[in-house]
Amino acid sequence: MSDCIFCKIVKKEIPNYTVYEDDHVLAFLDIAPRAKGHTLVIPKVHAEHLLELNDELLGFLLFGVKRAQERIDHILQPDGYNVGWNHGEVGGQVVPHLHIHIFPRWRNDGGGNMHSIIDQSGDKTVEDVGKLFKT
Ligand code: 5GP
Ligand code: ZN
Repeated sequence: MSDCIFCKIVKKEIPNYTVYEDDHVLAFLDIAPRAKGHTLVIPKVHAEHLLELNDELLGFLLFGVKRAQERIDHILQPDGYNVGWNHGEVGGQVVPHLHIHIFPRWRNDGGGNMHSIIDQSGDKTVEDVGKLFKT
């Protein structure tokens, strides 16, 4: 997409600090890092959400996450990671090109875990919601 900032990064119209790159995936340092080595992994094709990405490219994307994590591990040696993505405006997605955040974590860095994103289970029990998924 011509006006997409991450497509411009893929096309090298905007510079980046590359962590890992192959034919399908680019991993680069976030410009406003929330942790040392905060990295974004993106598919080279434009897709706003995971659900828009075809299954083959999804496999390549996950492969890229692993390769990027290996590089971060090698170079920065963090104690752990949080890996995930914001999906849609309500999920906190700002850039409309799918990107997986890799947050390297260090012991006693003061950060939380995935559970600190949301704690609002709603008005239905797990059993009620479970029934909705029964086929
Ligand atoms: P989101 O909230 O959409 O999941 O996160 C978007 C991320 O992209 C943010 O962490 C932001 O700092 C990063 N970002 C936005 N523009 C640029 C850019 O031009 N270059 C890089 N490297 N990161 C960017
Ligand atoms: Zn794009």
